Amino acid sequence: MAEVDLHLHTTQSDGRLSPRELVALVAQRGLKVVAITDHDITDGLEAAYEAASEHPQLTLIPGVELSTDIPGNEIHMLGYYMDYKARSFQEALAQYREGRVGRAQEMVRRLSELGLPVEWERVKEFAGDGTIGRPHIAQALVERGYFQYPQEAFKEYLGRNGLAYAEREKMTPQEAVQLIVGHGGVAVIAHPAPLEGIDEILADLTQAGLQGMEVHYAEYYEPTRSRLAEAAERHGLLPCGGSDYHAFGTPGEHLPGELGPPMEVALRLGELAKANAVAASSRSA
Ligand code: AMP
Ligand code: ZN
Ligand code: FE
Ligand code: FE
Repeated sequence: MAEVDLHLHTTQSDGRLSPRELVALVAQRGLKVVAITDHDITDGLEAAYEAASEHPQLTLIPGVELSTDIPGNEIHMLGYYMDYKARSFQEALAQYREGRVGRAQEMVRRLSELGLPVEWERVKEFAGDGTIGRPHIAQALVERGYFQYPQEAFKEYLGRNGLAYAEREKMTPQEAVQLIVGHGGVAVIAHPAPLEGIDEILADLTQAGLQGMEVHYAEYYEPTRSRLAEAAERHGLLPCGGSDYHAFGTPGEHLPGELGPPMEVALRLGELAKANAVAASSRSA
């Protein structure tokens, strides 16, 4: 068990635990530092902070996970400690969330053409008032009995090369880094193992202000983590990570704190954020 988990989702995006429930779980599991990193939204943080105030041994870091596009693939960018209450930050997030709605509708339309109809209303219900995403469509497909587990729906239909996949407007990874750093946050590239030409990507993004990458990622086995640790070292990036817990309830799902970076990484993340906040406020002054 790790003491630090910097990658967790709640019902504000595609996780199945509310921010309160998630905080209760991580506290019960003895975690000391956690970040909530919902997709394109920070609305869960207020309730999470309220819940965290009941657990003095627990530090909650404000986070977000932004989806970005590169040719032929996507990159997820984690942001920590940014001034998420800033109007310009919230407006940017709202714009990308809007693109998700049309795209989810399009995927539901394609599924129905493919003989797997689900009700749009039901997908929206699963998403609730947070960020809608493919896992909510997968949930509706599972409920209708087409699949036993969400991953099966991804494999043939919802994945990037799936039959029902639809694109939406996304920012570039550089834009995501700039959005985060511009608001005094620390940008960390998420689950980078599948990326081809990782050194080139990391060199470009480090130029743009990237400061960390996920290494201690629960899904990755040791050889992958070693390879990523070396890449992080080459590019001077802080080796972050966590469980990417969604409470999907699928067999083998990694639980909060199953793997995460050491405490010194969490401390360093806080130091980087302080310096970035000073730099961002002197730019806007
Ligand atoms: P979206 O934000 O709508 O693009 O959906 C991305 C989310 O779908 C990820 O954060 C994962 O939670 C989930 N996801 C992506 N690929 C898979 C997969 N192959 N199996 C299960 N879940 C997946
Ligand atoms: Zn997710
Ligand atoms: Fe991700
Ligand atoms: Fe995630």
